[in-house]
Amino acid sequence: MATATPLDSQKKAPSSIDPLDLYDICAELSEDEAMVQDTVRRFVDAEVLPIIREHFEQHTFPRELMPKIAEMGLLGSTIEGYDCAGMNQVTYGLICQELERGDSGIRSFVSVQSSLVMHPIYAYGSEAQKQEWLPRLASAEAVGCFGLTESHGGSDPGNMKTVAKRDGDDWRISGSKMWITNAPIADMAVIWAMTEDGIRGFIVPTDAPGFEVQEIENKFSLRASLTGALFLDDVRVPGSAMLPNVKGLRGPLGCLTKARYGITWGCIGAAQACLEACIDYTADRELFGRPLNHNQAIQIRLAEMARKITTAQLLSYHLGRVNDAGNMRPEQVSVAKWNNARIAIDIARDARDILGGSGISAEYVPIRHALNLESVITYEGTETVHQLVVGKALTGVNAF
Ligand SMILES: Cc1cc2nc3c(=O)[nH]c(=O)nc-3n(C[C@H](O)[C@H](O)[C@H](O)COP(=O)(O)OP(=O)(O)OC[C@H]3O[C@@H](n4cnc5c(N)ncnc54)[C@H](O)[C@@H]3O)c2cc1C
Repeated sequence: MATATPLDSQKKAPSSIDPLDLYDICAELSEDEAMVQDTVRRFVDAEVLPIIREHFEQHTFPRELMPKIAEMGLLGSTIEGYDCAGMNQVTYGLICQELERGDSGIRSFVSVQSSLVMHPIYAYGSEAQKQEWLPRLASAEAVGCFGLTESHGGSDPGNMKTVAKRDGDDWRISGSKMWITNAPIADMAVIWAMTEDGIRGFIVPTDAPGFEVQEIENKFSLRASLTGALFLDDVRVPGSAMLPNVKGLRGPLGCLTKARYGITWGCIGAAQACLEACIDYTADRELFGRPLNHNQAIQIRLAEMARKITTAQLLSYHLGRVNDAGNMRPEQVSVAKWNNARIAIDIARDARDILGGSGISAEYVPIRHALNLESVITYEGTETVHQLVVGKALTGVNAF
């Protein structure tokens, strides 16, 4: 009887292994979680992928997708009530993953609206603020943005120059914010400003007198997302515009922890898209008389990508369950944001190279993801900032 050789096994029909989910994370999901993931996946395939390249090239945001994203309950998806879907954190993560498989710009829109605008209103706002804004933001009737970063140093938000001063019952806010996602299409902004009493959050309509938005043009990254600078020149808002239930840096940092958690999942989606492109390309591309994927060196690079994606998936999945149990700590989020943004950008860059010259073409996804991930690794805390958060947890020493 002949013994099987490695060559025989190559001839077997492909197994049912999902190369993008080697550890069968999908089998760990509840029926509801899997259903939402499937719905968003189909939406990305049918509605995002056919148009995203054009938007990326034109540096425009696909606003036409906003009502569909809202209809699926993807805005403020973890919020209970106020016309929101009340899904769990793992589901929010899966939404981010599938959206970013399409493009980081679409995921950024949903992250900002959900975690940086709706979450602070829900967690820190008055009942009247929740009633006024959450249903409108959930339906995408209103778009919000989050103004924390200032031009003199996003990594050090405590050094905030934007100020809010009391004037009778009103507040007068002056200052500027830089690198603000969704700003050019926003109806309102959550602005963090220094008061006599420390940092406070304010809900500010973008059409208030003295409020100006300038779009940041010519970005080479996140081109299907709009970014702007905000200028507030003595903008007057009523006392009821302040978020009453939080004071100090822990307000914006609480929002960032939420958003960073989602980003850890989003990075997986971008990395999966790049690995998938490489698997397809190396199967078809013939060099030296055989398909490129028959080379050991290529298989090792694909295997490396799969290893990195698997570790990222396990981190985010576990973090999601911890988050749903209400026990997620900021340093845990920092490990995952640092790891997952790093593996995603490394995979995207390597995928770009595996595609050779085609890798620089917009026809293939890796270059777009690689360019987007340059923003993803920087915003919501740079890699260094997350390393220092972990360092502080390990040593008890704040090295910032
Ligand atoms: C596309 C995009 C969208 C964004 N959207 C938003 C938004 O919606 N809202 C918002 O508020 N902000 C937003 N940001 C801002 C983002 O969060 C900041 O860019 C980020 O926090 C870094 O701040 P910075 O750009 O000022 O860099 P800096 O803080 O100036 O950092 C410069 C470098 O110094 C390093 N560094 C910082 N501190 C230390 C240290 N202690 N030791 C060693 N090295 C250090 C950093 O890692 C980095 O490499 C966005 C940014 C981008 C690019």
